[in-house]
Amino acid sequence: MFVSDLDDTLYHEIDYVISGYHAIGRALEQSGLMSECEAVGVLTAAETTAGAFDRLAALIDRKNQGSRFTAQWMVEVYRYHTPHISLLPGVAETFEALRNAGETIAIITDGRSATQRAKFIALGLDRFVDSANLIISGETGADKRSPLPFEIIVSRNPDQRRFLYIGDNPAKDFRWPNSMGWLTIMLRDIRGCNIHSQQIDVAECFRAAHTVDSYPEALRLWRRFML
Ligand SMILES: [Mg+2]
Repeated sequence: MFVSDLDDTLYHEIDYVISGYHAIGRALEQSGLMSECEAVGVLTAAETTAGAFDRLAALIDRKNQGSRFTAQWMVEVYRYHTPHISLLPGVAETFEALRNAGETIAIITDGRSATQRAKFIALGLDRFVDSANLIISGETGADKRSPLPFEIIVSRNPDQRRFLYIGDNPAKDFRWPNSMGWLTIMLRDIRGCNIHSQQIDVAECFRAAHTVDSYPEALRLWRRFML
């Protein structure tokens, strides 16, 4: 069974951040407060997303006191917008090859239900992944620092014998699948643009068994170890 992370594994999470900033900018432009371009410029100049919302809300409040366009309003627009994001090169081809080989594909991701489901649909992943095999921490109540999401996949797929997990984050993606005997693969952050750095010091049990630069490379590992 081929199980994948979502953020910074199937698409670039920074693209989601920019997509959310544009959704906020569009709403502000429609309200006549400022252009989308100006809003996105202010948001992208900040170092963190929270800092970006505070900075833009303060700017709006200076011009228009008591405005309803607060930082909290921006958080809501960001979390519930329909994202413009796309799969990394090679992902769709890899999933097609796995599906044609009769392999089952699943996703384990940490985040809010509505946000992660919107990404799942925007990326067209419903073509490849059954909804019972989309595991979101906001729905199960346990993130990948716990074995629960991995145990759910095993219990929902009793016919499966071998499991693989591909992710990007050594802080939490590989510890539990390693201890459960899964094959673990880290997708290297080639461009250095991931939200969570891979340059962190972790114990051996947190490291993936293999590191790849692309999904087709992961497919080759799957053929070598899982068939
Ligand atoms: Mg990730």
